Amino acid sequence: MKQFTVSEKLYKEAEQHIVGGVNSPSRSFKAVGGGAPVFMKKAKGPYFWDEDGNKYIDYLAAYGPIITGHAHPHITKAIQDAAEKGVLYGTPTSLEITFAEMLKDAMPSLEKVRFVNSGTEAVMTTIRVARAFTGRSKIIKFAGCYHGHFDLVLVAAGSGPSTLGSPDSAGVTQNTADEVITIPFNDVTAFREAMTMWGDDIACVLVEPIVGNFGIVMPEDGFLEAVNETAHDAGSLVIYDEVITAFRFMYGGAQNLLGVEPDMTAMGKIIGGGLPIGAYGGKKAIMEQVAPLGPAYQAGTMAGNPLSMVSGIACLEVLKQPGVYDKLDGLGKQLENGILKINEKYKLPITINRLKGAMTLYFSDHAVKDYDGAKGTDGDLFGRFFKLMLNQGINLAPSKYEAWFITTEHGESDIEETLKAVDVAFSQLT
Ligand code: PMP
Repeated sequence: MKQFTVSEKLYKEAEQHIVGGVNSPSRSFKAVGGGAPVFMKKAKGPYFWDEDGNKYIDYLAAYGPIITGHAHPHITKAIQDAAEKGVLYGTPTSLEITFAEMLKDAMPSLEKVRFVNSGTEAVMTTIRVARAFTGRSKIIKFAGCYHGHFDLVLVAAGSGPSTLGSPDSAGVTQNTADEVITIPFNDVTAFREAMTMWGDDIACVLVEPIVGNFGIVMPEDGFLEAVNETAHDAGSLVIYDEVITAFRFMYGGAQNLLGVEPDMTAMGKIIGGGLPIGAYGGKKAIMEQVAPLGPAYQAGTMAGNPLSMVSGIACLEVLKQPGVYDKLDGLGKQLENGILKINEKYKLPITINRLKGAMTLYFSDHAVKDYDGAKGTDGDLFGRFFKLMLNQGINLAPSKYEAWFITTEHGESDIEETLKAVDVAFSQLT
């Protein structure tokens, strides 16, 4: 058993000063049975070392951005070099042009882009722009998809496609919730029903084209096409939230992979190479609603800062190398097949959803294709599994809804070591 003495002490101290001891609620261990979260001290490649000196193989990847592993030399050097030239200018720089061109080349639906500082900001702004462009106010989103922490997307589903939402967080008003309709992911019938009911009022439909927030969940054949067609028929815009998916599965977005184009896209995570970033973009006529060209206001002191630009550019340079995504897929396959093989011995109720280097292991014997399916998986079993893995030096996200993210720096031996830990953990769960 590992010792977490220093982490436990730091957590107590952190609780005195920082709300809940963490700066983002998902970092707490609340969803896995409680206890002190591990305080990490150092990270390199696929590994973490905590304050107690324990080493881990990391599959959290900081909730997704760290696809090239921690402290990747190419990215680190770019950041160091840029830092010496000043970290923030408040003026335009040529780096912003270079990076915008890289994003546009990778994702043709981005005719114009804007950089912001987080995924939340990116998504929030796409909705404002869609409202400005359409002159409408309501939005449709899909249950269980997470789009950041601004009011409009912290709204829970009503009781059916024809009902408006209810606040999902204290501080979100019913007036805000009245602007939002939430539909089950992959449910074309419910979506069409809602569009029939509210179509003329819908500014935009917001969707994770491949879900990352109740585990990795693929759209069923025809789902995104139906969303596009029905939304466009009603004069509504389609916004893809690619904060998790952009550059995750290929050099480009889920939209490239699936061959379906949205009107606007929000990005974050990977495109910052680990530094704070968000970006949004889309069709020229829509993006030209944004100030200073148009009436929709959006600004940012830190937006497009040189450090985030060079870090993002360097990250995409790494990802553009041949074979990167095949490697992620190969390691993902090794992990998935290895877990399934181990489970032939234990026969636990498990379901694995995986695409390339992103995978979710659900404790359920049912396929998971929507949020209700993910909610129905066994959280207690996951919580026990999580702690058994942590104790063996495998760092997973502390929630049954999150993905395991393999990085370009993981190797086959890391996966082998992980599988040994899975075997031990499964043996103790039966
Ligand atoms: N959209 C999606 C799909 C996300 O997964 C997240 C973050 N997990 C966000 C938006 C919000 O991004 P950020 O945390 O950078 O604000």
